[in-house]
Amino acid sequence: MIKDEKIAEIGKGLKNQADVVIDGTGEIVLPGLINTHTHLSMTLLRGYADDMRLQDWLQKKIWPAEAGLTPEACYQGALLGCAEMIMSGTTTFMDMYFNMEEVARAVNEAGLRAFLSYGIIDLFDAAKAKAEQEKTRRLFEHLRSLGSSRIRFALGPHAAYTCSPETLLWVKEFAEKNDAINHIHVAETRKEQADFQKQHGVRVVEYLDKIGALSNRMLAAHCVWVTKSEVATLGKAGVSVAHCPVSNMKLASGGAAPLPEMFEAGIAVGLGTDGAASNNTLDMFETMKVCALLHKAQRWDATVLNAQKTLDLATIEGARALGVQKEIGSIEVGKNADLIMLDTRLPNLNPIHGKETVVSDLVYSASPANVDTTIVDGRVLMVNRQLKTINLDETLLSVSKIAKQLVHA
Ligand SMILES: [Zn+2]
Repeated sequence: MIKDEKIAEIGKGLKNQADVVIDGTGEIVLPGLINTHTHLSMTLLRGYADDMRLQDWLQKKIWPAEAGLTPEACYQGALLGCAEMIMSGTTTFMDMYFNMEEVARAVNEAGLRAFLSYGIIDLFDAAKAKAEQEKTRRLFEHLRSLGSSRIRFALGPHAAYTCSPETLLWVKEFAEKNDAINHIHVAETRKEQADFQKQHGVRVVEYLDKIGALSNRMLAAHCVWVTKSEVATLGKAGVSVAHCPVSNMKLASGGAAPLPEMFEAGIAVGLGTDGAASNNTLDMFETMKVCALLHKAQRWDATVLNAQKTLDLATIEGARALGVQKEIGSIEVGKNADLIMLDTRLPNLNPIHGKETVVSDLVYSASPANVDTTIVDGRVLMVNRQLKTINLDETLLSVSKIAKQLVHA
């Protein structure tokens, strides 16, 4: 039973005490899924540039298209992303992009829970660094003025190869002072690692450690190209990791983030989709399945990542990576009511052999099509696959107009 924003009671026979009853016959209730790394407005570039090498992809397609992104475009792209998340069972996400005030507007309307960061890139230029700090401060003030407990501010230094050490340390201090997460891309590709080492003489994590940028407020996306000793360094510093298996495979980042070693080091690992331009969906069910398969294939070991652990990564471990495991990530009395319901009366979830196979069914067989109800903070955002907070037809129309202008500009 939900009261206000919280889970008030769990059990049978509560029906008569409730004002509103949602029929759960034939349904599985799960904690809402948590996407720890995305660039929401990139839904506008979904499918626009695929099957390309990362540098060509960025330089020839993504960056030129992004140059034409207006605040209104980012708002509509974010709204599309919110609709996709609600319809695929995600209730919380961590975002990094620009025009974040507009992303906040979309999230506020949609009713999702989000951590929003402005992606800082100073390219080692002091004047640019100052301007980026100013934009970060402005987002901080803006989100505070919204007064929403669902929408939280985060820091978003893009990466160690795009931000000066001064900026990385400023960000760390700002995060500390304002109790915020510091979200950054770390060691995503082999080329990034090799180029970085050539330039700085040390590896990316070693560098972040050396300049004193690591902290337990840092959420590092990717971490594909890290050594065992770097994993130990991350663990010691209390850094969390956002693992994005689909994006890493699609962009051929090479290898796979060393998850078993990260677990051993006590690192909180969440799952992320990354932006829709490099995935191409925000589907966390697909991400769970690909995650489990990637690590089995990589280690030649079918037991290396089981279904329960994979589901944990998309729920309670994702919450831990974001530092909110006391508020969300599991179905417990007192936690925020972020819940999804999956319809089992579809072919892909049949037969269910018993309680002990349900988790396998969820990770290896379930899809967004099974999600029929999504609740955040006790508010119903979708029921029987009907969106309650977003006019999907209007959003689709706006997005298709914006996409045409973007790509043909
Ligand atoms: Zn990213």
